[in-house]
Amino acid sequence: MTAAGSEAGLRDKVAIVTGGASGLGRATALALAKAGARVVVADLDAQGGREVAEMVDGHFRACDVSDLDANRALVDFAQEQYGGVDIAFLNAGVATGCGVGDDFDPARYRRAMGANLDGVVFGTHAVLPALRARGGGSIVATASLAGLAAVPFDPLYAANKHAVVGLARSLGPALAPDNVRFNAVCPGFAESRIIDHLRGMLSEQGLPVIPAELVADTVLRILTGDATGECWFIQAGRDPEPFRF
Ligand code: NAD
Repeated sequence: MTAAGSEAGLRDKVAIVTGGASGLGRATALALAKAGARVVVADLDAQGGREVAEMVDGHFRACDVSDLDANRALVDFAQEQYGGVDIAFLNAGVATGCGVGDDFDPARYRRAMGANLDGVVFGTHAVLPALRARGGGSIVATASLAGLAAVPFDPLYAANKHAVVGLARSLGPALAPDNVRFNAVCPGFAESRIIDHLRGMLSEQGLPVIPAELVADTVLRILTGDATGECWFIQAGRDPEPFRF
């Protein structure tokens, strides 16, 4: 998809971006705005979110995606600001930070499930009526390479992200009658705050980190395509492509 092609498909579309204050969400909010979309940035981080909203000439809405009512209020807000919603990039997420053994921490586990999985389920539930009201729309969720492969050093994060992959594969066909597409992106390590705790390991093992902009480009490619139920694998040195299960 060329930049011009993206612009044609996304101009004046209304997009919600969760986790838009930072990293992949921030890069995608900027790319959407560049393509002519109207962007509502949603995040727990009000300062970062407001900065991005200002950069994209859009709006910021404080939202904890693990709270169903907050998701509903976010969609209401976007409709009030722009008269409808066409796109949701359900991307907010956190590192899990615990395992299942002596390091198990129920609060951290709940927080990660809330952001990484409930955020996608609640966000989808909340936005569906708005998308239907427009005659259809497109949802992209951020899963991860951790949703496609075993991650022995972070099994709970892998569980969250495998669930998002399962949702994308299943909601693609399930939402087709509503003319709503549902796809996921599955990045490997990408430049953002969430990998700060892994930087030592990444450099020791010489593991590549992809730019956040590559994820943003892939999201735009999905939004301007016509596929549904796909999980796009994004890794260094290769063109992003739908994962073949
Ligand atoms: P990031 O930390 O830079 O950004 C995540 C954003 O989500 C932050 O602004 C944070 O405030 C927000 N957030 C967290 N919990 C929230 C909640 N409950 N409600 C609302 N906002 C919340 O990290 P990122 O890498 O940009 O993360 C974005 C997504 O990408 C996450 O789902 C993450 O799991 C996923 N991901 C990241 C990588 C990577 O290597 N960076 C790889 C694969 C997938």
